[in-house]
Amino acid sequence: MALFWDCLMALLAAFGLVCIAWPPILWEKIEYYHRAKHKRNEGKTMELNEALNKLDALQKKSYAYGAGLSALYLDGDTVAPSDTEEGRSLAVSVLAGEWHERFTSPETGELLDFLAAHKEELDQVRRRQVEELKRDYDKDRRIPAEEYMEFQRLTSEANAVWKRAKAGNDFALFLPYLEKIVAFNRKFAGYYDPDKAPYDALLDEYERGTSMAFYDPFFAALRERIVPLIRAVGEKEQPDDSFLRRRYPVEAQRKFSDYLMEVMGLDRRHVGIGETEHPFTDSFNNKDVRITTHYYENDVASSMYSVIHEGGHAKYDLGVADELQYTRLAGGVSMGLHESQSRFYENLIGRSLPFIRAIFPRMREFFPEQLADVTPEMFWRAVNKAQPSLIRTEADELTYPLHVMVRYEIEKRLIDGTLEAKDVPETWNRLYKEYLGVDVPDDTHGCLQDSHWAGGSLGYFPTYALGSAYGAQMLKNMEHDIDVWGPVGRGDLSQVTAWLKEKVHRFGGLLEPADVVKNACGTFDPTIYTDYLTRKYSELYHL
Ligand code: ZN
Repeated sequence: MALFWDCLMALLAAFGLVCIAWPPILWEKIEYYHRAKHKRNEGKTMELNEALNKLDALQKKSYAYGAGLSALYLDGDTVAPSDTEEGRSLAVSVLAGEWHERFTSPETGELLDFLAAHKEELDQVRRRQVEELKRDYDKDRRIPAEEYMEFQRLTSEANAVWKRAKAGNDFALFLPYLEKIVAFNRKFAGYYDPDKAPYDALLDEYERGTSMAFYDPFFAALRERIVPLIRAVGEKEQPDDSFLRRRYPVEAQRKFSDYLMEVMGLDRRHVGIGETEHPFTDSFNNKDVRITTHYYENDVASSMYSVIHEGGHAKYDLGVADELQYTRLAGGVSMGLHESQSRFYENLIGRSLPFIRAIFPRMREFFPEQLADVTPEMFWRAVNKAQPSLIRTEADELTYPLHVMVRYEIEKRLIDGTLEAKDVPETWNRLYKEYLGVDVPDDTHGCLQDSHWAGGSLGYFPTYALGSAYGAQMLKNMEHDIDVWGPVGRGDLSQVTAWLKEKVHRFGGLLEPADVVKNACGTFDPTIYTDYLTRKYSELYHL
């Protein structure tokens, strides 16, 4: 469920402004405009108030371009007729190009420099806006225009080739593209931060403050606890989950989605739901968020948990303070934190027994025949069935982090040059055997399954596992502060949401990701996550 597109959309939401100059999704389509020659305007002094007005105008414009682009994507993915891509692509490329030109202009640089020089006179909100915008600006200008354009063309092509390679189980077809994408990522890492190891610079792009020195012990700690746990679960009898695959009519599933959104407290005057191939969340502002799902007639849990997952992303964006709207600080602050919220609602709440008991009577009204012989306990066991598998996006909560770990190990070695792209399949298969105990039958179900690398992203995967770990720590603190399970057991999530809003949502980008984590989790400690998994699966499987 935690699909790339879902998370990409979360990224778009999280980085309202960056999304215009920097999202992989736009890279494919941006027609790059050469920068205007830098004309220095020395001696020009701007009054602070005038500068702040300009800062507001800049951010509102950024919002407007972003909203326009988002609306075009949303339309293309949801209701647009099939052969209408051409005009939208043109509109997207013009809008994105115009914004890039405007944002990287010398005037923007002067404005941000001026405000940075007066930062002592700015309040916290303004200071953070300037800091973040300056960071975006410096980064966007460091990448040479020609390389930026070449990378857009490469990933656009690579994406199309990857689809063919995946369909035809033909890694050799994709290999030359992967080689070039790795080389580009190495080079870009040097632009992001020349003082860091290249993979550290890439990791920092997706979750600020993280590095290999952070992730290595994190993943080692997960492995040490999760691998034996999976082995123990594997020796137990598996629950019957066949009833999840009875025929669940899409019309009834749609009504069930409406009900789930109601339980989550998603106000339908501010949150819409659509249907797409891959579920995602697209946020315009804290009063207009769209989620999507995909209905499978023979799999009721798929859409159910997509709605709850995307609903979690939506809750985050809806909870950001009003004063941060239409600025650089609107939306969630990082990938890891966004994923912590979606996975919190999906797994920690949505796959808990109290929650399932609470919603089950209504669920039975939507699916009376399908669930006639099913109890809430049976349903709870079925949606928590843990079994090592090949595909990350279909993996259960327990085995999921190991899928992420395989990708982390491979990316790390690709970027530091100790693994050649041509050896990825062999390494992938070996690590799947070692971590998950499964034999990979072909590259389609192996190293070609995800679109991230074809889209140019290396360093993205680890945030998925990190979000889960953040969530477990938040739950522990939440349980300390409030009665979580009493209200959840009555289908009332309002206290859960209020806690998350207070500790995470309202800040948007006002705090650094690490400070939000500290605020909601305390000191980061992956054993809290592995303790949570151990407790949960010991109960489920009577270990
Ligand atoms: Zn997600």
